[in-house]
Amino acid sequence: MKNKSTYWIFFELLWRDFFRLMAKKHGDKIFLQGGTREKANPSLVNNVELLHQWIDGQTGNPFIDANMRELKATGFMSNRGRQNVASFLVKEMGVNWQMGAEYFESVLIDYDVASNWGNWNYIAGVGSDPREDRHFNIQSQARKYDPDGEYVKTWLPALAALSSEDIFQL
Ligand SMILES: Cc1cc2nc3c(=O)[nH]c(=O)nc-3n(C[C@H](O)[C@H](O)[C@H](O)COP(=O)(O)OP(=O)(O)OC[C@H]3O[C@@H](n4cnc5c(N)ncnc54)[C@H](O)[C@@H]3O)c2cc1C
Repeated sequence: MKNKSTYWIFFELLWRDFFRLMAKKHGDKIFLQGGTREKANPSLVNNVELLHQWIDGQTGNPFIDANMRELKATGFMSNRGRQNVASFLVKEMGVNWQMGAEYFESVLIDYDVASNWGNWNYIAGVGSDPREDRHFNIQSQARKYDPDGEYVKTWLPALAALSSEDIFQL
């Protein structure tokens, strides 16, 4: 029986197949800084200190830190979380996306070569994306997907006493 849920699972499986196709087509380009577009961004830095702030959930952005702490504790993060933390590392922190992809490779319990590196290419703007310079607005994503701040409070219990509005202002 078709419903909203079956639509989305089909849609998401198309993404998985797309990244598999891209990996087969482009081979090891998916691992290189310029990605499948062969267009590296020279302003990104290999900064280990910044990388570890991100890995440890110590960036100061509650939505990002909650997701990174979940990943470290469990080996899993939602697709929404992955898109936001990847965008944050590259677009807000200016860190080389390959370092984020390598970290994901080392911890994800569902690690898959094509899906991981293909999604990182896409978020870093070196893969295939009809939109130029995609940039997630983390605050509006947090408002939309964690409106009551429940997810953030689960992984950052120190913020439990704050209202969701206070959390969005951090
Ligand atoms: C930066 C980044 C790295 C990722 N690394 C991986 C990885 O190593 N392994 C992996 O399996 N997925 C990866 N994904 C894709 C996606 O996040 C996971 O497949 C999804 O979180 C799995 O959750 P779910 O089982 O609830 O799937 P649902 O959201 O219910 O989707 C059903 C199935 O569709 C596929 N799917 C869903 N979204 C995507 C997507 N964006 N790209 C490819 N396939 C998708 C998966 O096979 C998933 O199990 C990554 C996404 C991003 C943004």
